[in-house]
Order: sequence, then C-alpha cells, then structure tokens
Amino acid sequence: MAEWNRRQFLLYGGLSLVTVGTAVLVSKGAFAFEESAETAKKLSPNPIPVNWDTLIWNGKIIDGTGAPLFLGALAIEGDKISALFREKEGARPGRLQGDNGQFSLAENEQVLQVENYDSAISDIREPLTFWADENTPFVLPEHCKIINAAGRCVTPGFIDVHSHNEAYLRTNPEAELRLTQGITTQIGGNCGNSVPSITAFRKELGPLGLNYSQLVGYRNLRNQVIGDSARKATTDEIDKMVALLEAELADGAPGFSVALEYHPQTAITTQELEVYARVVKDFDKILAVHLRSESDGLLEAFDEVLSVARQTGVAVQYGHVKALFQANWSKHSLLMERFNSAIAEGIDLWGDVYAYDFSSWDFGTNRVSISEANLIDTLQQDRIFVGSDSGLYEGGRVNHPRACGNFPRILARYVRDKEVLSLETAIAKMTSLPARRFRFHDRGTLAVGQKADVLVFDPEQIQDRATRQQPGLISTGIDYLFVNGIETISASLPTKALAGQWL
Ligand SMILES: [Zn+2]
Repeated sequence: MAEWNRRQFLLYGGLSLVTVGTAVLVSKGAFAFEESAETAKKLSPNPIPVNWDTLIWNGKIIDGTGAPLFLGALAIEGDKISALFREKEGARPGRLQGDNGQFSLAENEQVLQVENYDSAISDIREPLTFWADENTPFVLPEHCKIINAAGRCVTPGFIDVHSHNEAYLRTNPEAELRLTQGITTQIGGNCGNSVPSITAFRKELGPLGLNYSQLVGYRNLRNQVIGDSARKATTDEIDKMVALLEAELADGAPGFSVALEYHPQTAITTQELEVYARVVKDFDKILAVHLRSESDGLLEAFDEVLSVARQTGVAVQYGHVKALFQANWSKHSLLMERFNSAIAEGIDLWGDVYAYDFSSWDFGTNRVSISEANLIDTLQQDRIFVGSDSGLYEGGRVNHPRACGNFPRILARYVRDKEVLSLETAIAKMTSLPARRFRFHDRGTLAVGQKADVLVFDPEQIQDRATRQQPGLISTGIDYLFVNGIETISASLPTKALAGQWL
C-alpha cells in the first residue's frame, strides 16, 4: 500500500459525541478519518457496530434551535436521527479536508483520486473509517450511505405552515416544487380553504413526498352548512359548523383557519369567530387568521383578532403579516408595536411572513405593494417565522414565485446578500419555531430521536430563481433532502420517493 495510504487524518480530539443514541453506546469519544482498514483493525480491539443507513459528515450542523452552527456529522437510522457528532474544541483544523483541496482515498486496494475533494459534495462510501475514540471505530453496515457535506449546511427540513397546495398535491403527490425549496413538512387548508373531509382527502391523495397536515377552513364549513352565500350564519348553523370543526380537530387537524377578508367568510362576526376560537382553545390547537383587512383597515382588523384572543385565550397564528399598499406602509411600526405588546400582555400570538415585496394580487404587474424595509423588520421579530403562502395548482401551475422560491430566497437574499438575519436564526424560523407552534414535537430540530427530516444545502449557492415572469423556476443549491430518513433529493435531483407522513 502506498505510503500516503497509511497516513491518518486524525483522530485525536476529533469530534465528540454530543448526543448518544441507542445504537451508540459511548459517552465520550472522538470522530476521525482513517485511510487504511488494516490499521483500523490493529488499533481497535472493540469496534462499535452501528446500524446507520446514512451518515452525513463534515457538514456545518445547524440544529434548528438557533444555536451556533458547528462542524460535525449526523447519522440516520430508519426514519430517525440516531447520532449527532460535534467537533471537539482544539481539534486539528482541516484534518478531514486533505491537502490543498485534494484528497486521496483507497478503495478495495485500489487508489481512487478525488480532485477538489472539499468543494465537491460526494457520497463515496469506503474506505472511510469513523472513530468513536482514538482506538474504537464504528463498524458501519454495508448499505450505509456516506455523504461528505464539506462546505454544506446540514439542517432540519423546512416547515411551511402556510400553503395552498391541495390542487397541486392531487396531480403531483411527490411535491417536487416544495422539496426543491428544502421543505419537508407543510400545512394546508389555510385562509379558510380546506377540503370537506380531511380523512377522505388523505385517502384520495395516498402517499405524499412530504409530511402534510391540513387545517379546518371556515369557508369549507360554510360550504357544507350554508353554501356560498355571504349571509350571517344562524345559531343553528353555527352549532352545525362547530360539530364539524370538533370532529376534524378530534381527528388530528392542527387547527382552524379563516380569511375574514374573503367572500363568503366576510359574513362572520367577531362573536361567531369567538365561538370557533373557544373550540380551538379547548382542543389546544391553533387559530390561523387572515385579517379582515391587510391594507386600509389593517390596524382595526388586527385589533379584532386580538380581542378574540383576549376573550378566549386561543393561540393565534397571524398569516402572511404585511401592510399592503404604499399608503399603508407607515402603519407597519404601529402594527408591530401592537403585535409585541399583545405578546407582552400574555396573548399566545405568532405570525408568519413570506419573502416578497408584492402579493399574489400583483402578479402580472410590476407593482411593489409591500415595503421591503417593513418585510425585513417583520422577519427580524422574535415571534415571526417563515411561511410561503404558496398557491400551487394542478400540474404545478403557479401564480406567485413564492410557491417555488420562498425559503431559498430567505437564505439567499436576506441571510447571505443583505445580512439582515443570521443563518442560525433564519433556519430556526423555518424549522423549530413552526414545529413548536404546530406541536410537531418530533420534528424541526436535529437531535437524536427526532424524525430524520434533514436538509443538506450550500449556503453560497442556494438561490431562488422564480420571478414574476417565470414563477415556476425551481430553486438551486439543495444537495440532499431526507423525509423520514428517505432521500427525496439526491445529488440535487428529486428521487420521486413518497416518504411523507400525515401529521
Ligand atoms: Zn391568506
């Protein structure tokens, strides 16, 4: 074997195991690379067998909590994260990188030269050896896929709590336009528009490419009880709608949605809204609201929702926060003042925002209806996370670029280019914060035991491409995406795997 083959790219110090899964019975260790399997045997009286299906190493781990990123590795077993490793302080820098961006590997006694190794993501399986400590290698199963995530971020899959994709999922259950943004979980049924029966919809759709959950929409309840007329509901009709709502919430729906601005939902009174809000509160779920006005009557409309929250104690999700049209841009600071003082007062309130300065009403025009300064200020609020408000229709028809570009746009324009959010904060706003809000307790962070919804992307390359003229262009920069441990994007290409679960 060639001399360089025996060199070790070491080891000592290496990476320490920060969390210990059932498969990894070491409390403290190192993580390292060794080129020769022979040497490994010599050094290792007690190899640790593991049953990992995938090991993503050498990546910048951003765990979704907002904590600073660290160089490390993550193992997936079945549909869960089974180990997470962190580089130990004082470890030799660059020891996993090779010299001058080149790296030499031995494979089955043959030499495999890999050029520019640390800039090219790869999934070369052997002969890497990963060490628990300086004498103890992990023994990986033959099938374990190893991904070198050099230069890449490894994060939880994104969670989009605000989507309008029911028609799209019917024709495109693999949901590629969502996956190519890094989204692994989405909530539909927003703004009052849900399906008549979530259980029937679930059967109709069959398996999906991402995790999915559907709110109960007020318009849908009205359709079933009143029809399309925008008249006030009678007490009897409200009772019927409450019964339908209770049944769906009992069946697992994450909450109730309403768009007070849209026909025929405009007919709802504040008192009627309070009736549903009490039901939602009783079930400990979420009231997702599109305000009665997002423009001229913005502040009054927001006050209405606050009064419902005060009266009922319901948890409110304020959808697509914005002050629409230039004449109302100056209301933004007042809106944020009210938003934050309501939270200080104890109201259970969060909001979501999309990454564009125009709404779907501006599609086909060049109008800017949302102030970007306001948008940035909204994004920077603690209680605001990212949602796309994406409308996707049959076959992938789109009427706003946010459907295909929203999440990469946050990372490209607001994190990388304008630097108005840290990477870690932006990722938290796309992962753990929405997961906590919607009670997805086993998603939204990278930690042992969490579902393996895992994204690998290049922070320098990630880019939305969708525009007003071409709203259907997919984003670039996503290398790998796992949904429940299954690869749904592999080497930047969708695999068409239907790995999603209904939540
Ligand atoms: Zn809406």
